Amino acid sequence: MANERDAVKASEATPVYDVVIIGSGPAGYTAAIYAARANLRTLVLQGEQLGGQLMITSEVENYPGFEDGVQGPELMDKFEKQARRFGADMVPQDVTKVDFSAQPFTVWTYNKQYQGNSVIIATGASAKWLGLPNEERLQGRGVSGCATCDGFFFREKTIAVVGGGDTAMEEALFLTRYASQVHLLHRRDSFRASKIMQARVQSNPKITIHYNTEVTDVQGENAVEGLALRDTQTGETSTLPVQGFFVAIGHQPNTDLFKGILDMDAVGYLKPTTHTMTNVEGVFLAGDVADSRYRQAVTAAGEGCRAAIDAERWLESRGELNPDTAEDASAWGELNDTRDAARDASAATR
Ligand code: NAP
Repeated sequence: MANERDAVKASEATPVYDVVIIGSGPAGYTAAIYAARANLRTLVLQGEQLGGQLMITSEVENYPGFEDGVQGPELMDKFEKQARRFGADMVPQDVTKVDFSAQPFTVWTYNKQYQGNSVIIATGASAKWLGLPNEERLQGRGVSGCATCDGFFFREKTIAVVGGGDTAMEEALFLTRYASQVHLLHRRDSFRASKIMQARVQSNPKITIHYNTEVTDVQGENAVEGLALRDTQTGETSTLPVQGFFVAIGHQPNTDLFKGILDMDAVGYLKPTTHTMTNVEGVFLAGDVADSRYRQAVTAAGEGCRAAIDAERWLESRGELNPDTAEDASAWGELNDTRDAARDASAATR
């Protein structure tokens, strides 16, 4: 029997939006604030896990404008309310399929399809986790995936970082500003990080390196109290008392939906062509989905702003917006002129 939840009925299709935003972290919501405030018909497909990575962060102390800090979920709630205030529609569903082959673009959730003359992709990236029995339960209680976000809470504490790449080196070094001691745990006998980062770690007196060490669980009732370890060569088990545990084994951009459609690098991060536009004209990107370097809420928000302005100008350059509400479209006008000229030249030589 056909599953009704999966059946997409054409009759359920909504009117065409000016902008469909996929993702609801700082990038997606900021794009929505800018787009909706510019009078674009704006839809945010928020995903079932609203708010992105900040929802698993506790206090955010480096987001400008909150001098006393703000809880990650509260910050995201404020972003969402601000976007709603300007009329953005919100749908808390995951996108399951996209068709960017023709305009308007179409995106599907499990039970409905939506159309937009432009799309902003802000699906973010997810920190990779080890999958230990008590890892998820203690997230925000000593288990973290972001030293820049949470390092400050570990002043004079003993903590551990797991990983052997540049991210792990960077996180361990950063954490020495706060922690009294940092244990760097790696499953093999050599790091894959760049030599210069390895050298910095090896010469830092606060960092103790444990090679051939696998973490098998996180211990603690209400907060991290220690780690269960196993020597990968001898099989010997041990316990390491720590108050913080940073998992730094890489991030995975959430781009599976766009494989074969949008340009991405070897790891899966989306690649822009012009400003924030992807290789598909009218499809834009914002935030961690295209950023393996900064990965901050404030940079993602900035990217969301850029993508919304680019989408608006691009729509305007194609005459798809009310001129009274449109901003300067000359950037995309010039781009289109250049592309038309290139196409004409190419056609002339065929
Ligand atoms: P990465 O280079 O893929 O390294 C991931 C590390 O985590 C590896 O050492 C890997 O161990 C370990 N790991 C993966 N899965 C694990 C598991 N299940 N259990 C235990 N350990 C596990 O990722 P990254 O460090 O995030 O770096 C990603 C890219 O960004 C790299 O190209 C890096 O150079 C770049 N980056 C650059 C900078 C910088 O230049 N400042 C900073 C950060 C990142 P194995 O080695 O055994 O596979």
